[in-house]
Amino acid sequence: MPEANSKPVSKPKSAPQKALEKLGLLRDIDLALHLPLRYEDETRITPIAQAHEGQAVQCEGLVSESHVDLRGRRQLLVKLEDASGELLLRFIHFYPAQQKSMAVGQRLRVRGELRHGFFGREMVHPTFKAVDENTPLPSALSPVYPTSASLPQAYLRRAVTSALQRAALEELLPAGVVPPQLPPLREALMFLHHPPPQARLGTLEDQSHPAWQRLKFDELLAQQLSQLQSQRERARLQAPALNASRGGIHEQLLAVLPFALTNAQRRVCEEIAGDLARPQPMHRLLQGDVGSGKTVVAALAATVAIDAGWQCALMAPTEILAEQHFKKLLSWLEPLGLQVAWLTGSVKGKARQKMLDAAASGEAQLVIGTHAVIEEKVRFARLGLAIIDEQHRFGVAQRLALRQKLASMELEPHLLMMSATPIPRTLAMTYFADLDVSTIDELPPGRTAIVTKVFADGKRLNVIEKIQAEVARGAQVYWVCPLIEESSAEEGAPPPLDLSNVIETHAELTEALAGFGVGLLHGRMAAAEKAAVMAQFSAGSLSVLVATTVIEVGVDVPNASLMVIEHAERFGLSQLHQLRGRVGRGSAASVCVLLYSGPLSATGKARLKAMAETNDGFEIARLDLEIRGPGEFMGARQSGAELLRFADLQQDGLLLQAARRLAPQLLDRHPDAARRHVVRWLGSKAEFLKA
Ligand code: ADP
Ligand code: MG
Repeated sequence: MPEANSKPVSKPKSAPQKALEKLGLLRDIDLALHLPLRYEDETRITPIAQAHEGQAVQCEGLVSESHVDLRGRRQLLVKLEDASGELLLRFIHFYPAQQKSMAVGQRLRVRGELRHGFFGREMVHPTFKAVDENTPLPSALSPVYPTSASLPQAYLRRAVTSALQRAALEELLPAGVVPPQLPPLREALMFLHHPPPQARLGTLEDQSHPAWQRLKFDELLAQQLSQLQSQRERARLQAPALNASRGGIHEQLLAVLPFALTNAQRRVCEEIAGDLARPQPMHRLLQGDVGSGKTVVAALAATVAIDAGWQCALMAPTEILAEQHFKKLLSWLEPLGLQVAWLTGSVKGKARQKMLDAAASGEAQLVIGTHAVIEEKVRFARLGLAIIDEQHRFGVAQRLALRQKLASMELEPHLLMMSATPIPRTLAMTYFADLDVSTIDELPPGRTAIVTKVFADGKRLNVIEKIQAEVARGAQVYWVCPLIEESSAEEGAPPPLDLSNVIETHAELTEALAGFGVGLLHGRMAAAEKAAVMAQFSAGSLSVLVATTVIEVGVDVPNASLMVIEHAERFGLSQLHQLRGRVGRGSAASVCVLLYSGPLSATGKARLKAMAETNDGFEIARLDLEIRGPGEFMGARQSGAELLRFADLQQDGLLLQAARRLAPQLLDRHPDAARRHVVRWLGSKAEFLKA
């Protein structure tokens, strides 16, 4: 026997083996945890005469006739008889060997949906098996597993069954941890893969059966343990203690701001300053609705770090947004004598080298940019604080890269994440358990609520008339068109599906609004071009900006008071809310018009209705979670909602609470059991949960 972890002699892998790997079914435990979608009942035989039309049944009998019919469509016709009646089996596709195995006189067990055809009772393409009188019936329901095209169900069934025998399924959790009504894991899995014929299928399908509950509980417990573990690990890490010094840049910035902070802004600033002053890395999410004023909080946090003699990095998900931050922070901080560097994918050549040098030497006290800031080549002399704006637009992997990169120093930097998409409570308790949250729950004074109106696309001309009136009195207008592929428009993104929509609308509005500037902005334009258009709109020399969702996050032009979103039915709820948040930033009353092309789906209708009824980002996020599930909140295209496979945060609240309560006890008293439980359940995914 070779060592368990020695390299096996490399044999070419079969297609099903590769397919198994692709589904992530590598370890025995992975296969054991690959659960059926549904079951087929092959445990009983229904007499032919008693089978009902449309019912999936299993019958058994002797072949009394078998021939290939050549009239019309070529097909194999097999007549099967039992004591109660007869049944025609029809095969349009068949191999000669199959025909042979259904010769006259052979006993067959067949399974399929019964129909009444031209010749009476029939089954088209039933599954069949040659048997004799003594062939036993299976004693359990047959599992049907989720699979892929290159992985036959029968192969997968065999793989799961044998893995189930081999897998180490012994109870890892000490007595008293698992709620008493739940079965041991091995029992639960055996039951779910091969339930006895009398099992109540309803409770299996809706996953309320105790066997299912056991899996969900174990999964939630693993997830809570892993979060707790990383929380404790973080508490052991060292970070620079950053204290704002008297009379420093921080105080000077407060003095020159053109507005007074809201109470909510003041409170979150204090929470952040409290974290920064501690020698453990901050891991804090700042959430606040669109327009609540997170940017200034970020700037104030940056100055605390800078006053203490450390560098700060600020990252935004798009160039437009990064550039806007850069301009705003530069206008505040440059007069105070700070060095601010600018780093994105489109900063190239000498300019780029200069920025890299400034970051590496520590000369740049603040570095603002896009993902480029976390690239491998970027080095910081003394990075004390990293701020990520619109954190949900960054992937889990990118957040991890940031922490790992910065961990290359002796000390970890503090981390502040900002988001306008608040995390609902259930998610905060699970995925984000290792995160402190500050909330700005108040908008700056003087804002008037945005009025949202929903119109069918037939009202388009009326909307354009409204725009004419608005721009005539000096207001500015956004018109947003969907572009499916563009939501994360950055370097390396796939080309957009179709630009014609935004280009045609731009032409249409240019014609309708003769004498006014109408700009065009989309993700395929060069960065410099985009920046120029954005600058013109900010300066007011363009009255209308026709754009794709590149303006979705963070863009701040307070004079804009009308937002039109075309094909609003194509956007997600949080995205609509983000887009709407581009208006209502100044003192003018603002309007958001949602144009849709019917007919609307039920969820489409629900989304638009929610938009018309509420401006509250928390309420929107709650509804969005209901409609879409947790993926969006994880920033998770890479990590996937896969992190929880069995448990459902909406439905399994009680199990979640139990897992949350038990995790600290288990980790304290039985650290080894806790670790083995996490490895069993999360394997390599455990790393991801730390991001
Ligand atoms: P978001 O939270 O969506 O990132 P911003 O930081 O872009 O919001 O702020 C929205 C607008 O409100 C900006 O123009 C900003 O200068 C302004 N603002 C922020 N805080 C205040 C305040 N306390 N009083 C008045 N205006 C403010
Ligand atoms: Mg913002």
